[in-house]
Amino acid sequence: MSAQDSSHDGIVDLRSDTVTLPTTAMLERMQHARLGDDGREGDPTVRAVEARGAALIGKEAALFVPSGTMGNLLAMLAHAERGTDVFADRGAHLLNSELGSVVTIAGLIPKPIQSRRGAMDETALEDAIRASGSPGLIAMETTHNGAGGAVLPLPHMIRIHAIGQARGIPVHLDGARLFNASIALGVPAAQIAGHADSVMVCLSKGLSAPVGSLLCGSAAFVARARGLRKLVGGTMRQSGIVAAAGLVALETMIARLSEDHAAAKRLATSLSWLDPALADPDHVQTNILRVDVSATTRDAAAWADGVKQHGVLVQASGPSQLRLVTHRHIDDAAVDRTIAAFAAVRG
Ligand SMILES: *Cc1c(COP(=O)(O)O)cnc(C)c1O
Repeated sequence: MSAQDSSHDGIVDLRSDTVTLPTTAMLERMQHARLGDDGREGDPTVRAVEARGAALIGKEAALFVPSGTMGNLLAMLAHAERGTDVFADRGAHLLNSELGSVVTIAGLIPKPIQSRRGAMDETALEDAIRASGSPGLIAMETTHNGAGGAVLPLPHMIRIHAIGQARGIPVHLDGARLFNASIALGVPAAQIAGHADSVMVCLSKGLSAPVGSLLCGSAAFVARARGLRKLVGGTMRQSGIVAAAGLVALETMIARLSEDHAAAKRLATSLSWLDPALADPDHVQTNILRVDVSATTRDAAAWADGVKQHGVLVQASGPSQLRLVTHRHIDDAAVDRTIAAFAAVRG
């Protein structure tokens, strides 16, 4: 496939920012990357992306992993004993989309905590920890996928971290879209990551790398996670070939995330003009937009089918919600086409 710097096939794909294709600069860097065996003495390009990621995120070390799911899994394995409790907000990606790794592989017991826009109720968390015989791990998520890309407020993160520290419970941050949170808050990623002991970030979402995530933390934590990565089959060989794209992602693709946020805001604003029940632009903080179709005559699946007839792909999530995610391939024309598709389907 050739380099793709714009939308392909004339389809507007808003299902996820994971659909972003590598840039021309990434493909060029991949071609010339210095490579080695990452399961032996190490791959120099993987080492470079790990060093760059650790510096940006403000941790001692980082580990390159094939996916965000594996990064979160290794964090659980490295932090918590089997049979202990993991506390996370009830809408967390970890408890909804990764429950298999939580329960079956890490052997942790999920303790869902009530939450608002992705932020755990702090009193409920303290009560749950008090009631727990064996607390193992606290997990936060920012930006929050299920809560429409919401950004956790920093004071909330500080208090959650303090709750963990006071009781000796490690705090992990699922920061799949940490850089979106950083752009939205206008603070360096390290300032957010500082309120957790470990952080997972995805290079393969809005940053457009084809594959890869980083798990960051203290040197001792990352050394443990590195051993566990081998155990779960996550040690790759000349993985610098994909890490090269990750380096370009970290070097050049962060600042432009603000364009994705602006596109999501414009989408929400236009949809609210079409019908105020569909979307609230005030709730859109980053690149994810949740559209509520419960006040319309169609369910989410029928809406997704309807706009698909107009060349627009969105994800139905539950019976009455659609998830729209903006990214590098969603330009002004794509936003206009999406709005026209919604207007046509609504009739
Ligand atoms: C995408 C995502 C993950 C998992 O990343 P994969 O690379 O798809 O495994 C974890 N947490 C959140 C919040 C995500 O959005």
